[in-house]
Amino acid sequence: MASGAEVIRRAKDEIREVDPREVRDLSSNGAANGAVLVDVREQHEFDESHIPGAVHVPRGHLESRIEGAAPDRSQRVVLYCASGNRSALAAHTLQQLLGYEHAESMEGGITLWKDRGYDVEVPRALTADQRQRYSRHLLIPEIGLEGQMKLLDAKVLLLGAGGLGSPVALYLAAAGVGTLGIVDDDDVDLTNLQRQIAHTNDRVGTPKVDSAEQSIADINPDVEVVKYKTRLDAENIMEIIDGYDVIVDGADNFPTRYLLNDASVRLRIPVVSASILGFDGQLSVFAPYEGPCYRCLYPTPPPAELAPSCGANGVLGVLPGTMGMLQATEVIKLIVGVGEPLVGRLLLYEALSETFTELKVKRDPECPICSRDPDSISDEEMGQFPDYEAFCAG
Ligand SMILES: [Zn+2]
Repeated sequence: MASGAEVIRRAKDEIREVDPREVRDLSSNGAANGAVLVDVREQHEFDESHIPGAVHVPRGHLESRIEGAAPDRSQRVVLYCASGNRSALAAHTLQQLLGYEHAESMEGGITLWKDRGYDVEVPRALTADQRQRYSRHLLIPEIGLEGQMKLLDAKVLLLGAGGLGSPVALYLAAAGVGTLGIVDDDDVDLTNLQRQIAHTNDRVGTPKVDSAEQSIADINPDVEVVKYKTRLDAENIMEIIDGYDVIVDGADNFPTRYLLNDASVRLRIPVVSASILGFDGQLSVFAPYEGPCYRCLYPTPPPAELAPSCGANGVLGVLPGTMGMLQATEVIKLIVGVGEPLVGRLLLYEALSETFTELKVKRDPECPICSRDPDSISDEEMGQFPDYEAFCAG
């Protein structure tokens, strides 16, 4: 039976080992020659410091994850670890068992790399509490530490702390979205509590932005809440939405939706939009200049008698929860940069039949807003819409 040391020596005999200097020269123009640098150490070692540009595939997950990092088996793959033993064994596995033609191991590992004074990247670290709080995110490779950091750095604006805004606020707070802006000028009313789960019985009569802030703080102290106790209008919209990464539209009226659309196109901020009525919901992501905008989808508002925003309307209490969860999911995907966002697609949900239907939506080449250069959209044109008071009165 061969000793461990012998196994490592034999593996090294059968693979190519490269000097850290060669890897450094490679990483300075790595993208140009298609080589991939892979760190095979454990998560905590990678988090401490790693070679800039390296992707992380721990040796324990090598077989299942290497294809994500290096899909082409003919490309050059250089592996490293702390001292060059684990990476030699990993390179041997890639070569012998997985058919990689150019799997190599960096001699001396990151220890020798550091001894030579070459650059390392020291990622920002989570606190011990945060590592626990977000542990189930850290375990998903698509999110991991990098994705969690993106969430903590993200700024998301919620239009409304009502039916849709409530569940979105609570779940985005739990997920660790670092800054949540909330625009709402209403106070909590007893009729809200059937569905607006960020609010509580003892906070009836208090501003919704304060009530939501309290619920968010109770869930996750990492989240900073920015409150706007106001209605969004043409005067304040540019100032309020500027600087946010994603906007969640839970507005209950058409003028706000058109206004938000025009301003967000101008500032190129994606909007995750949902609407609800009765037992039915709709959802889409409007990514300016990547997919259609709200006006491409709805060039004109519905006739007044069909506009649900002109008065109180019935809605199943859990429906905004369902649609809000879908919104929160899209927000997280946009921030982390994973999956296929719901751009150019309209999702229809019918609760009574429990069915989802997806419609393709195209950009309108004649769209009055997104067919144009963002700088050419003037303040006066934004949110242009038939007079809403007259519109509802009619
Ligand atoms: Zn458009």
